[in-house]
Amino acid sequence: VHEPAAAPSEPPPKKLAGDVGVVVEHYNMRPEVGVAQRETSPIIGLKSFNNWVKSVLITRFAHPALAASKVVGRGPRAPRGKVLDMGCGKGGDMTKWAKARAAEVLAVDIAAVSVDQARARWQQLRGPSFDATFAALDCYSEPLSKAFAPAKLATPFDVVSMQFCMHYAFESIQKARCMLENVSRWLRPGGAFIGTIPNADQLLQNLEGVPADAPDLTFGNDVYKIRFEDRVHKSLFGHKYWFYLQDAVENVPEYIVKWDNFAQMAADYGLHLVYKEEFHDVFSEHREHPEFGPLMVRMKVVDANGESAMDEDQWEAANIYIAFAFEKR
Ligand code: SAM
Repeated sequence: VHEPAAAPSEPPPKKLAGDVGVVVEHYNMRPEVGVAQRETSPIIGLKSFNNWVKSVLITRFAHPALAASKVVGRGPRAPRGKVLDMGCGKGGDMTKWAKARAAEVLAVDIAAVSVDQARARWQQLRGPSFDATFAALDCYSEPLSKAFAPAKLATPFDVVSMQFCMHYAFESIQKARCMLENVSRWLRPGGAFIGTIPNADQLLQNLEGVPADAPDLTFGNDVYKIRFEDRVHKSLFGHKYWFYLQDAVENVPEYIVKWDNFAQMAADYGLHLVYKEEFHDVFSEHREHPEFGPLMVRMKVVDANGESAMDEDQWEAANIYIAFAFEKR
């Protein structure tokens, strides 16, 4: 079922300068751990919860878009539809795409080492799979057509997914525009654009709470820490903070995504909002759901008695994020 193993992605020719270089270096350096070791992470509850939120988002918004696709797979029960996983990282969503019955996935990330790990994860998928092509690309500075041959882009995507990665584009208006161009250009009308990003309102509210005489603009807890460089920032882009998440992210520069600005820009690219929710609300909205409630137990977000696998610090860290879905019109 799998395509033959492709050659490892070429690493970017030279080390990238500036914040983007720090981001690439960080994600390239993070080791890929197996399933067993992942289970021992001190924040496994939070990681499971994040995965569950992504599964909800994919099942609710990506799955219908894939099912409605004109792309026909092989055989009567074949999977259908085409996905762009932008900022795919180490391929954490490969199983989710198989479950969503994708026919084809194009996966792309700026970190070439992660891209190779994502390809390996796809090759190891058991059960029904999909065709996949992997490429390394700075999706916020370069067009997607640089990474994929025209034939790969000839059929439009049914779904574009950006999980925990879109905020890196908000360093500048040019990068945000380039990112949205890459999202929208190859997405079919009626297709879904889904993602997860830090919640700017939450972050800025926490920043306001940092006392004026504090040594620096840091807040958080044992699980996550955020340090802003400026309390106020005049531009809609480039409001930078340094992010630490235990056992996941070691002080990486990230940028505030002001929601209204993002939604307005997205509309300019034909993308219209259908869903936006803080992670805590995704939880309360779906905990009693006949499908997503039991899924929460299977994904070990809660145990059979409904007891959470997250301690208070992890639960607080979980709500840094919001989930969204847009429809291309
Ligand atoms: N989407 C994956 C997931 O949910 O597991 C990975 C998320 S990881 C927190 C963020 C990813 O964004 C990293 O793999 C990073 O390399 C990628 N990224 C950051 N800037 C990027 C850019 N300019 N172009 C493409 N990917 C980028």
